[in-house]
Amino acid sequence: MDETLTPIYEQVLRRNPGELEFHQAVREVFDSLGPVVRKHPHYTEAAVLQRLCEPERQIIFRVPWVDDRGQVQIHRGFRVQYSSALGPYKGGLRFHPSVYLGIVKFLGFEQIFKNALTGMPIGGGKGGSDFDPRGRSDGEVMRFCQSFMTELHRHIGEHTDVPAGDIGVGGREIGYLFGQYKRMTNRYESGVLTGKGLTWGGSLVRTEATGYGTVLFAERMLGTRGEGLDGRTVGVSGAGNVAVHAVEKAQALGARVVTFSDSSGYVVDPAGVDLELLRDVKVEHRGRAEDYAARRPGARFVAGGSVWDVPADVALPCATQNELDEAAARRLVAHGVRAVAEGANMPCTPGAVAVLREAGVLFGPGKAANAGGVATSALEMQQNASRDSWTFEHTESRLSEIMTAIHDRCAATAEEYGRPGDYVLGANVAGFRRVADAMLAQGLT
Ligand code: GLU
Repeated sequence: MDETLTPIYEQVLRRNPGELEFHQAVREVFDSLGPVVRKHPHYTEAAVLQRLCEPERQIIFRVPWVDDRGQVQIHRGFRVQYSSALGPYKGGLRFHPSVYLGIVKFLGFEQIFKNALTGMPIGGGKGGSDFDPRGRSDGEVMRFCQSFMTELHRHIGEHTDVPAGDIGVGGREIGYLFGQYKRMTNRYESGVLTGKGLTWGGSLVRTEATGYGTVLFAERMLGTRGEGLDGRTVGVSGAGNVAVHAVEKAQALGARVVTFSDSSGYVVDPAGVDLELLRDVKVEHRGRAEDYAARRPGARFVAGGSVWDVPADVALPCATQNELDEAAARRLVAHGVRAVAEGANMPCTPGAVAVLREAGVLFGPGKAANAGGVATSALEMQQNASRDSWTFEHTESRLSEIMTAIHDRCAATAEEYGRPGDYVLGANVAGFRRVADAMLAQGLT
């Protein structure tokens, strides 16, 4: 890290004790910014970095609700409104037992730069709760969402802050959240949430966008070396919305996807994942990876273990933060991996990223590779603002253009800073510059 940035980073550590994922996310960006702050001292003079590390607003609230047995349950809700330099705060809500302030802040911090990279008018924010929807009935999830929104509604709005989904928050949860927002405010304000159902303000392609975009990004990276996904073996981790659509798009581009995983273990399917069956098991029935293997001849379920033990030409980590560590990266490299694109947020540990980069593996960091999701959320906001709804083809072609633009912006920035092919530097610097310039223009806020 550049020595001018060290004291700022140390202050982040002191001010935010114990928030390890947040420290990691800040460090990852700071490690790229040395050449920028040396070239443009006005960013330092205006304390842009100190300001970006301190969210504009942080809201923590109690979420009381009653479960199916009549027991009162208390959870903690969060919304961290990080940066509104480029537009209303924008970013998902995560419902998962691991959620605490440090997770929300890491996600929110990443979101600022990711959203800036899309070139769209959206600021950065993130929220969620330590509530676990797994194993809960629809009625319980609805009551939880209603209670969560009863507090959150006063902090959000189509021009203020626009939440969406993330882990544990999909179409069902967004529906319950939207219903309660409408009831609390007496406004049909479509643009207040994205990821809505298609008949009530949602956008085609939003569900698919993060997974599709990640694969398109991998394809663009491979293209710089005259390669592509056609005929390649792909390893995917996760079995949620991002993973399922990454599998779909990779297969559409001619790849053979041989793995997916969930918290219980992973599946190896040498013939290529059966997408219909995967959807039926994981999306329709909210089942386990094991159920897929039981119904699929030739597929094998491995309890626990690491999905990255399975050889693949292209790896798409689409599960969660820090799921691919240094040892896993070494195994991927030993098996000849060509490219890694992060469908999840920060799935590769810093040690893993170092190993991949050293080995010359193409590496697409999440804030670039998975930005297709939030970019399509911005397209949903555009459609809501104009009371319009676009076709699948039009929306998908916009997504594809956006992913190409993000790829090219990262590549050009890496080139400009003398590090061709370094998508980490390209994403961090290009995202940072866009948001930092807006902050400078808007004065000390
Ligand atoms: N949670 C997603 C992300 O990590 C999407 C956010 C959104 O659509 O606002 O970018």
